[in-house]
Amino acid sequence: EIGYVNGKYVSLDEAVIPIDERGHQFGDGVYEVIRFYNGKPFMLVEHVERLINSSKAIRLPIEQSVEDFNQLILQAVEKSELKDCNVYIQITRGIATRLHLFPNVPVSITMTVREAKPPKPEMRDNGVKAIILDDERWANCYIKSLNLLPNILAKQTADEAGCYEAILNRDGVVTEGTSSNAYIIKEGKIFTAPLTKQILPGITRMAVKRIAEKLNIDFVEEPFTTDLLLSADEVFVTSTTSEIMPIVKIDDNSIGNGVPGPVTKRLYEQFQLEIAAL
Ligand code: PMP
Repeated sequence: EIGYVNGKYVSLDEAVIPIDERGHQFGDGVYEVIRFYNGKPFMLVEHVERLINSSKAIRLPIEQSVEDFNQLILQAVEKSELKDCNVYIQITRGIATRLHLFPNVPVSITMTVREAKPPKPEMRDNGVKAIILDDERWANCYIKSLNLLPNILAKQTADEAGCYEAILNRDGVVTEGTSSNAYIIKEGKIFTAPLTKQILPGITRMAVKRIAEKLNIDFVEEPFTTDLLLSADEVFVTSTTSEIMPIVKIDDNSIGNGVPGPVTKRLYEQFQLEIAAL
């Protein structure tokens, strides 16, 4: 495990952030999580591009190029000597006396590299449970912002209900999970929310779309309701850390036969092939 703060490698328990840091005080920043498999990053450029997009969206004055971030991240992983790990990278509006207005100071870039703790195989084999909750987040969920309070509250509520994830909805229309994108299978087609400001454009979602096209499975980016979610043949969620995770029960409703379905399985098999080929 290793930490990085503005050009310096540190140990993770070291005190390195001053009180007047805007990430700490305002959540005034953006972040990414990138998975490395056997020393190789999965879709690194896509993650870095999203990081730069998120930064621009909140007007963070970053100078680094995609290539600069690639190098920073690859170097940190090399330094950590970890092969299967997650890189967390965060950029904030820097360190300045607390005032809402943007300060004229350099941004702060911090990273951690930690061993990956993938979900237990039986979770993917048997599927997991979810609950439906209202999406109480702000209007710009396409930005991967540090402000995760509604996500955290919903995830905790899910956990306390014995569930792996909460699937969020606005007025009965599914947006995404608290930390994942959500999908249903109906009559052999994959449905997922379209890329609007209401959801994060998941990198794993991008991978699933590519895989679906390769396997000749229709990938339909259209809004769907919580009613359709509950009556779907299959449901799954995706994220960098969960990969493709089958959902077999939502609230008190079994999905399909209550076991992971064939389309979800095919997608995950192809996903694993892509990882093996990195
Ligand atoms: N939506 C939200 C709200 C998330 O936090 C995440 C995980 N970062 C995702 C979707 C999935 O994105 P990705 O596949 O890029 O990890």
